[in-house]
Amino acid sequence: MTKFLFNITVLQGDGIGAEVMGACIEVLEHLLADQPRFGLRYLHAAGGAQHYADTGSAMPEDTLRACADADAILFGAMGLPHIRYPDGTEVSPQLDLRKDLDLYAGVRPIRAIPGVPSVLADPRAAQIDFVLVREQSEGLFFGRLYPEKQPKANDNEAFDLGRVSRQASERLFDFAFQLARRRRAANPGKGRVTCVDKANVLSSMAFFHKIYWERAKLNADLSADHCYVDAMALNLVKRPWDYDVIPTENQFGDILSDLAAGLIGGLGMSPSADIGDKHGLFQPSHGTAPDIAGQGKANPTAMILSAALMLAWLGEKHGMPEAASEAARLTLAVDAAFASGRIRSIELGGKDGTQAITGAIVNALARPQRK
Ligand code: ATP
Repeated sequence: MTKFLFNITVLQGDGIGAEVMGACIEVLEHLLADQPRFGLRYLHAAGGAQHYADTGSAMPEDTLRACADADAILFGAMGLPHIRYPDGTEVSPQLDLRKDLDLYAGVRPIRAIPGVPSVLADPRAAQIDFVLVREQSEGLFFGRLYPEKQPKANDNEAFDLGRVSRQASERLFDFAFQLARRRRAANPGKGRVTCVDKANVLSSMAFFHKIYWERAKLNADLSADHCYVDAMALNLVKRPWDYDVIPTENQFGDILSDLAAGLIGGLGMSPSADIGDKHGLFQPSHGTAPDIAGQGKANPTAMILSAALMLAWLGEKHGMPEAASEAARLTLAVDAAFASGRIRSIELGGKDGTQAITGAIVNALARPQRK
């Protein structure tokens, strides 16, 4: 059998991006060492805030091309607080990549991993298993993505233009309903979609809300409901185990996903996938964490679980069940590494840094996992 090679463009970026990416590739190499059907060919490409400081470009043309040509993109983190564009905003080429590759759905799975302590005292916290689906092509970030459309600021006032369009909202909701359907196929207890907006105050959100219910009618086999974003901030702390798939506006998704990561052990535990119709980019939910960069303290789990999302996506897109099984095997190995409760990340007050957590996952891969 010829072995199929997926081309993976790797952008490690800034801060802990390099550390968690090194750990991720080490784990992927162990995972796929004996995989006869497919492998991954890595192409490392430059980009990020430091690259901007060094060269004047945060995302060189050849990196953009390598991302567009790849089967998938593995992304560490980019941005450093002390390196800014002339207008004072942070260098965040990941936003430009989302725009250029039309990665409209930010998929952030939030799942409690047994053995990882919860900040919630309620034992039902062990059942947390939902997915935030963040709209990423417009919303309250529209002005940042399309600065030419932004009203001009002066020394007395500044503006941020938001936009909600029918086309972007419909595809977001359809993505969310489809995801809920797939989750229900795997677990009959799932299949609920909860739209999060601020339709009671903002007219763009009222439009978002209206389109949600139009799409819900077309997906009537699934259960659909709705929650305002302020109430959702409360509910995600009080009863996060109730939720399944949560589509929301760009900035609301940005904020809620940090809150949600806090429920399952912090940003270092929280993977994400930026998905479009053609491309997929897989990155941890966290940023570059400059406060711990270069100290070996970063938890690589979010990056490693993002690689599992990548394998699942490649498997589905290319009709290759072997890639989907490797995704499942990797996720099981992460669970097995934490199951005893002996591995505790520094973020959670433990002593285990990048190397120890990577080693525990690699060891778990070497043990047979129950399917
Ligand atoms: P951005 O503004 O770029 O989106 P962020 O809000 O995701 O960044 P970070 O700078 O990544 O935030 O980190 C916020 C806090 O979480 C920091 O104290 C950081 O040390 C911690 N943190 C983030 N990622 C990890 C990780 N992988 N392991 C341990 N701690 C982390």
